[in-house]
Amino acid sequence: MKPATFNYLRPSSLEEAVHYLSEYGEDAKILSGGQSLIPLLNMRLSTPKYLIDIGRAEGLSYIKEDGESLVIGALTKHREIEKSELVKEKCPLLSEAIRWVGHEQIRNRGTVGGSIAHGDPSAELPCVLTALRGEVVIADVNGEEIVSPEEFFLTYMLTSLQPD
Ligand SMILES: Cc1cc2nc3c(=O)[nH]c(=O)nc-3n(C[C@H](O)[C@H](O)[C@H](O)COP(=O)(O)OP(=O)(O)OC[C@H]3O[C@@H](n4cnc5c(N)ncnc54)[C@H](O)[C@@H]3O)c2cc1C
Repeated sequence: MKPATFNYLRPSSLEEAVHYLSEYGEDAKILSGGQSLIPLLNMRLSTPKYLIDIGRAEGLSYIKEDGESLVIGALTKHREIEKSELVKEKCPLLSEAIRWVGHEQIRNRGTVGGSIAHGDPSAELPCVLTALRGEVVIADVNGEEIVSPEEFFLTYMLTSLQPD
C-alpha cells in the first residue's frame, strides 16, 4: 500500500519543528529516520495530515560528555553510537546493545529520538535508557522539560509525549 496524502514540512531547526507541532500537533507526525513510521504510513495505520521531517534540522545530532553523563541528540543515528569510541568507553552497555538493533541499513537510518519516541518495549534503546536511569529531554515552544524513563514510557508503545 501507499501512504494517505499528507503535507510535507521540512524544518531546518528545532525551533521551527516545535512551532509546526504547536500549530498542527494533533494532525502531525514527526518523521526522523522513518524506519518505524514509514511502514505505519504505508499500511495506513497512521494517517497524519502533516509530516514534519526533522531529518535535516540542524544541531540535533551529537554525542557529548557532560560530567558523568553522555548527552545524545535526538537525530543521532544508531550507527553513530555503534561506532563511537566515547560511548564504548563511557557507556559500554549502550555500545554493546546498539549493534543488536535490526541490521546495518536500519542502524544507518534509525535515530535515538525515533526509537525512544516510538516506545517499542522490545527495542534496545528504551531498555538501556531505563536500565541506566537515563533522562529524556522533551521540547515544545515553551522550552524543555527533563523526565525519567518511568515518567516517559507509560505502557506498550505509549509515551508521555504530547501532540505539541
Ligand atoms: C526491519 C526492521 C528491524 C528493526 N529491528 C529493530 C531492533 O532489533 N531493535 C530496535 O530497537 N529497533 C528496531 N527497529 C526500529 C528501528 O530502530 C527504528 O529506527 C526506530 O524504532 C525508530 O527510529 P526512526 O528514527 O526511524 O523513527 P521514525 O520511524 O522516523 O519515527 C518513529 C516514531 O517516533 C516519532 N519520532 C521520531 N523522532 C522523534 C523525535 N525526535 N521527537 C518526537 N517524536 C519522534 C515519530 O513521529 C514516530 O511516531 C527495526 C526497524 C525495522 C524496519
